[in-house]
Amino acid sequence: MRVLVVADIHGNLAALEAVLAAAGPVDRVWCLGDVIGYGPRPRECVERIREYAGPACVLGNHDAACLGRIPLDGFNPVARYALRWTMLQLGPEHRAYLESLPEQFILHEVTLVHGSLRAPIWEYIFTPEQALASFALLQTRLCFFGHTHVPFLLSETAAHRGEPPVRPSDGETIEVRDGRYLINPGSVGQPRDGDPRAAFAIWEPEQQRVTFRRVPYNIEAVQAEMAAAGLPRLLIERLALGY
Ligand code: ZN
Repeated sequence: MRVLVVADIHGNLAALEAVLAAAGPVDRVWCLGDVIGYGPRPRECVERIREYAGPACVLGNHDAACLGRIPLDGFNPVARYALRWTMLQLGPEHRAYLESLPEQFILHEVTLVHGSLRAPIWEYIFTPEQALASFALLQTRLCFFGHTHVPFLLSETAAHRGEPPVRPSDGETIEVRDGRYLINPGSVGQPRDGDPRAAFAIWEPEQQRVTFRRVPYNIEAVQAEMAAAGLPRLLIERLALGY
């Protein structure tokens, strides 16, 4: 079985379509939240994820904000502006799908969460210390998470030793046969590791391995759409920088 794992699509349909094409045939799609916010095509992104991932998607902080579940003043001004714009784009059917999403989703040996197990919507996991707090709450062997927009892999053993996370590069395959792991595929729609290409991961449970991938997409076209929609310049520019 091949599972496509995506996170932080953020309304970037061109990036999502590039990922779906580059992933090849997959049996499942799992989504780690923040389907919307920032990007120019929130409706289409919700529709694609509803179709491909169905219930195997968790709620992100931008998704929750667009539903009015968390206050917009927790976001920086440009994110807040984009969230207000995004809220106006969604129809009742898009809201209904986002409303149906849980904060955590457990499938056999895997937990899906947006931020962390300690604070599913909000906490970022960058460090071994932050990882250990989530390992302490983890009920499964593996956890896929998003929110930081940076690819990441860390075993519980390495976190206990205080080792830094692995920052997997494009095409890197890592076996996770033994022990427990926190894994972040990186962001589809707004990468923040200096590489502007869309990020995703392929999980193969029979082989117990995860492959990290990057794929280029037409960033200029998305930037033009964002400009036409009047979205903030900072959000437009950062797509080309990968930050
Ligand atoms: Zn995000």
